[in-house]
Amino acid sequence: MQPPFPFDNSYARLPARFFARLPPTPVSGPSLIRVNGPLARDLALDPAWLASGEGVAVLAGNRVPEGAEPIATAYAGHQFGHFVPQLGDGRALLLGEVVGRDGARRDIQLKGAGPTPFSRAGDGRAALGPVLREYLVSEAMAALGIPTTRALAAVATGERVIRESVLPGAVLTRVAASHIRVGTFQFFAARGDTEGLRALADHVIARHDPEAGAAEAPYRALLDGVIARQADLVARWLLVGFVHGVMNTDNMSVAGETIDYGPCAFLDTYDPKTAFSSIDRHGRYAYGNQPRIALWNLTRLAEALLPLLADDEAAAVAEAEAALGGFAPRFEAAYHEGLNRKLGLATRREGDSDLASDLLALMAENQADFTLTFRRLGEAAAGPGAGEPVRSLFVDPTAFDGWALRWRERLAAEARDPSATAAAMRAANPAFIPRNHRVEEMIEAAVERSDFAPFENLLRVLSRPYDDQPAGARYAEPPEGGGAGYRTFCGT
Ligand code: AMP
Ligand code: MG
Repeated sequence: MQPPFPFDNSYARLPARFFARLPPTPVSGPSLIRVNGPLARDLALDPAWLASGEGVAVLAGNRVPEGAEPIATAYAGHQFGHFVPQLGDGRALLLGEVVGRDGARRDIQLKGAGPTPFSRAGDGRAALGPVLREYLVSEAMAALGIPTTRALAAVATGERVIRESVLPGAVLTRVAASHIRVGTFQFFAARGDTEGLRALADHVIARHDPEAGAAEAPYRALLDGVIARQADLVARWLLVGFVHGVMNTDNMSVAGETIDYGPCAFLDTYDPKTAFSSIDRHGRYAYGNQPRIALWNLTRLAEALLPLLADDEAAAVAEAEAALGGFAPRFEAAYHEGLNRKLGLATRREGDSDLASDLLALMAENQADFTLTFRRLGEAAAGPGAGEPVRSLFVDPTAFDGWALRWRERLAAEARDPSATAAAMRAANPAFIPRNHRVEEMIEAAVERSDFAPFENLLRVLSRPYDDQPAGARYAEPPEGGGAGYRTFCGT
């Protein structure tokens, strides 16, 4: 019989100092919460087997499947600006890699699988609430079309974890293009381990930047690739109102996927200073700071790569600076192109950036809901008579009117059929995002009452974020009071 996971574990073939080998720690009462059927099929895995007793034993860490080579990977990282030379997978184990139906290689990782040599004071476990949050928000991001790690399954452990209170435990099966972070490079750089650094860079080139391998300067091309992916990713975040919340260098994937959904949250009311995380007291990772922080993190990556960029240091620094100089134009292009799509503009003209920035400034002044404003703007594209639903989102609706005149003039220059504009805007502006109050409500139902219906319902609606779904109307509405003061907590 064919093994359930056709593993091919390239990371486990890297030198021994890249990771610690150990099996997951079994749990006492595993039970299935959910298997992600469509994702399983994309990975050429059998969802029915995953949901079986044997499958759940694997997903809970009670059984190591054939072909798996469980490892906890080593990495370092800057946390809130402070360098920690050793972090590593403290509660996650990479079971191995599979090649999906699309030919792409992906990691299968158990998050919450028990302590590892990198756990420090932690228990190696995950609580149910954060597991459901990550499952839901990462799948919502995927449905929005934003590069992200995915959730293949969630299981309850039947055990309790102790945080500020005693909570039910769970394990998330996370799927990623890889789990290699900026901090993985920093781990080797901090040790002066240039051989390790080179082996890691070669691995990443083979996996994420095959064209860089053929370039004249492969490591510079690798750095360019990571910078471009990250610039595009952060632009995509801003365009849907996503606040990552903990953009430490160990939480930034070199594959360009959104990773680590601890304290993340979406904007309700538009305010670029929004930082939801309770530990982000100075707003380092606030919504509007994310491009700057991405560049800061990429600068740490460039520093780590210096020994590979050129033989002499001055030349290496010049290469790093040239690569980092590519971030801003790449980000600006992706962001403004995305804003144009949100405004229903298929072409780009001088003045478009101002048009978009002026709307955002008015939204901030008038406490307009980010997601609803753009969605209703799409409805308003039908003609001036259809503008009331969007203008009513502004504390002072007349502030919107002046801007709308300019917008309609600009739309007219596109000479596109209004219904085509409206359709394009629907495809660019989601109706449904994981609203914080709905995510909290879903977690409370599961944790307090073992009621997973809100999780399933929310997941279903968020799997089609751009479709009008009248039955899901309550999930499109902002919270009472615009969500001011909402706080998130690291899911550790
Ligand atoms: P995070 O804030 O989730 O990005 O995690 C930062 C570091 O803390 C990583 O090295 C994690 O593996 C580790 N960590 C987080 N939670 C736990 C836990 N419950 N047990 C052990 N290590 C943890
Ligand atoms: Mg992390």
